Amino acid sequence: MSRPGPTGLASVQGAARLAAIQTGLGVEFDALLVTNLTNVRYLCGFTGSNGQLLVLPDRALLLTDGRYAIQAPDQIEAHGVDVDVTTAYSRRKAQLVEALARSEQLGLEADSITWAEQRQLEGWLPKLQLVPSDGLVEDLRAVKDRSEIERIQAAVAIADNSLAQLVESDGLDGATEREVANRLDSVMQTLGATGPAYETIVASGANAAKPHARPTDRPIGAGDMVIIDVGAVVDGYRSDMTRTFVIGPPRAEQREMVDLVTAAQAAGVAAVAPGVAASAIDHACRSIIVAAGYGEQFMHGTGHGVGLDIHERPAIAGTSAATLAPGHVITVEPGVYVPEHGGVRIEDLVLVTETGAQVLTGSPKIPLLE
Ligand code: ZN
Ligand code: ZN
Repeated sequence: MSRPGPTGLASVQGAARLAAIQTGLGVEFDALLVTNLTNVRYLCGFTGSNGQLLVLPDRALLLTDGRYAIQAPDQIEAHGVDVDVTTAYSRRKAQLVEALARSEQLGLEADSITWAEQRQLEGWLPKLQLVPSDGLVEDLRAVKDRSEIERIQAAVAIADNSLAQLVESDGLDGATEREVANRLDSVMQTLGATGPAYETIVASGANAAKPHARPTDRPIGAGDMVIIDVGAVVDGYRSDMTRTFVIGPPRAEQREMVDLVTAAQAAGVAAVAPGVAASAIDHACRSIIVAAGYGEQFMHGTGHGVGLDIHERPAIAGTSAATLAPGHVITVEPGVYVPEHGGVRIEDLVLVTETGAQVLTGSPKIPLLE
């Protein structure tokens, strides 16, 4: 039985996730060793720094170490799954050999196993064929269930409220980028976040022309465009949002950039629906920016999935082969960056629904601060 989730959130139903992986066994391989720690958490709830989950058709085994002898069974129970735990790290080889005695092929997560680990498994399990797998758990994770959407929404609300508090009480003018970022992080924690979803970006003036600038001691002042990219974590799930502010009356070029990105971002959001190619969302944004002559100044993808990781499937880019499906939570975040004027990026988090889309982020897009 799973327990209620934290702070009134719906409890996680992990059993369906594990069952989905088990159902897929027997085609390319009859057992899967999950080594990506986010995938381990997703399937069995364990959040420690050392854990591998062996998924077999009729059982699952978490291999970790003695530090987690209490934590691991607790988290597995709270996750609503039936997983055996071994914390005898020195007996890891014997336990793998025993558990895999009836298996013929073992799937490995190609993106998250080292060469040394693969070689070690080869030595330990000489009769077993090791088979690379790509994104099996990541594709499951891309489609969020109700408990996950609730957590993402809680993280969104915290980031929305912290940005509102900042704009209403302190403003931006006169503060340094670092002070603004620290203030946002501190308010998010006060409101219940376990931390920022990523290093909060506050980029002003010429710094705003760098899409992933880190906050500096530069004071924000009149004439600056300020990009604030902020998200919170609630029970492991992240939010992601960007707003761009202009301090004082915008110059003509700044106004043009703001209007352009606002229009492109709205077109991208309007295109989100189940069955739509992820590349079409990128095209909806990019074609508007290219037509206005700013194509070279939009040098990143349009968005990405968000969940336990800040960047996960599906990718929203021209090269993405993904198709949007109900339960996907994605960002739409076009931007243009011109060193003389600064940069503009606007990012919303959007849930793909059965019939269309629901914008989760609620912060107003009012860029002017006098
Ligand atoms: Zn962001
Ligand atoms: Zn993002």
